[in-house]
Amino acid sequence: MRKRREFLELMGAAAVGACFPAELAWALEQEKAELILHGGNIWTVNAREPRAEAIAIARGRILAVGSDADVLALAVPTTKRIDLGKKTVLPGFIDAHSHPAQAGVMHLRMVDCDLRSITAITAALRERAAKTAAGDWVMGFKYDDTKTSDGRPLAIGDLDAAVPDHPVYIQHRGGHTIYCNSLAFRKAGIDEKTPDPAGGRIDHDPVTGKLNGRLAESAQALIDRVRPTAFTRDDQREGVKLISKMLAKTGITSATEAQGTPTDLQAYQDARDAGELLYRAYCFINYRHIDSMIAAGVRTGLGDEWVRVGAMKMVCDGSISERTARLSTAYEGRPKDFGILVMKEEELYEYGRKAHLAGWQIGTHANGDVGIDTTLRVYERLQKESPRRDARYRLEHCTVINDGLVARIAALGAIPTPFSTYVYYHGEKMKYYGPERLNHMFALRSFLDAGIRATQASDYPPGEFVPMMALQSEVTRTDTKGNVWGPKQKISVEEAIRVGTIHGAYASFEENLKGSLEVGKVADLVVLGRDPMKEEPSTLVTIPVERTMAGGRWTFEG
Ligand SMILES: [Zn+2]
Repeated sequence: MRKRREFLELMGAAAVGACFPAELAWALEQEKAELILHGGNIWTVNAREPRAEAIAIARGRILAVGSDADVLALAVPTTKRIDLGKKTVLPGFIDAHSHPAQAGVMHLRMVDCDLRSITAITAALRERAAKTAAGDWVMGFKYDDTKTSDGRPLAIGDLDAAVPDHPVYIQHRGGHTIYCNSLAFRKAGIDEKTPDPAGGRIDHDPVTGKLNGRLAESAQALIDRVRPTAFTRDDQREGVKLISKMLAKTGITSATEAQGTPTDLQAYQDARDAGELLYRAYCFINYRHIDSMIAAGVRTGLGDEWVRVGAMKMVCDGSISERTARLSTAYEGRPKDFGILVMKEEELYEYGRKAHLAGWQIGTHANGDVGIDTTLRVYERLQKESPRRDARYRLEHCTVINDGLVARIAALGAIPTPFSTYVYYHGEKMKYYGPERLNHMFALRSFLDAGIRATQASDYPPGEFVPMMALQSEVTRTDTKGNVWGPKQKISVEEAIRVGTIHGAYASFEENLKGSLEVGKVADLVVLGRDPMKEEPSTLVTIPVERTMAGGRWTFEG
């Protein structure tokens, strides 16, 4: 059992700028266990003491970890005890790239169109329309044309028949296309003759030339001008409350808001103050807001254990699910299509330099190998011109790699956040990339072999956030139909757990605070119905989450 000595070590870490002196000092003084979890099969993710039976908790922190005998000896009359009944305990999972606050408010106010047929989707829209005043918008999200049984995308006729008296707006799960009904087009002043805006497309039926309902990329702005896009402050807070419960249910105790804005930061603080925030949020700030943040003296790390300012976010190239990531070799079956670069290298450098000099971490969306190369060149230049110790540059997604890129990522100490659940959940999209390229995508094996601390990341809503699904996807590289994609990148269950816990903590400079079950760290953990180490890899996703704890409080009890 480790206790006092580790506290003192951590106190030392706290003194040089880590995150937790006051509470730690309090706990050290008191040493009275409020709660002891015992009789467990505990995987600590602490190399010095990987297995344990019991954990003592006080003031939201871990007071002791060890054998039942050692830890139960710390019990005082007021200590609550919970017998884990040999259940498996892991550190709480850290989703290092997701959009939870933004997804939460959509779950609150929009129709979840993650359904398997057009009939099911139109029925859900009709139901919402019945509860919505005529003329008000009916909005949906998470629609995925590759996941319905109909073999065709949603058409304007489907939407007009289901919801004639309300304008309808539906976002594709990937976030780059939308689908609307005729009333929405009328409100936006769009007809068959409206020209495509720069960088966007208004789709037409190839035979009749009529609008087919779909708008791509920058054409979405034509509808955004007329639909309600702002939510109330209450809605934003409610959204965090709602998504908090969804994440807690799956064992997530921390998440990064990867495209955050000052509004999201406010929503997190509001939810935290109301006692509704159930995960620790690392809130990125989009580069468009960076000037005002720097002017206010804000930089990465400001905040507390629950709400913290994260990296400045930029976007280098396009998406994997919608085939706009910038690649060096063309997409399968589209010999001239290499994807797109969203921001120019010089622009990435200018914003990057500003943030870097002001002490910000930088996180840049870079999916394709060309996007990653471009982003690395910017980071290497920043580091050469203004070296900073431990900058922890992040490569958001970092999907398609090669050996040269991996070597540069390792040399820079940069952190990739590859999609964790795509192989399993989005298997039907993998054919666009081909088997050879798949062996260089979501490349956890390559990253870990090079000593790179890649993380677990869902990118929800585009990807599913369930950590047990991430484990299965990363360990088996197999989709729901049994197809294997990129088997060379398989990792072990134990590695996948590290990726989903301590690596995520490192990505936000919080490896002294969380990511493993060690004395002095926050009591963030998950109790599982079965042990992933003993599970057949093809059923990892079915392991039930029985309880989740964040900061010593149960955030989910099944
Ligand atoms: Zn994202």
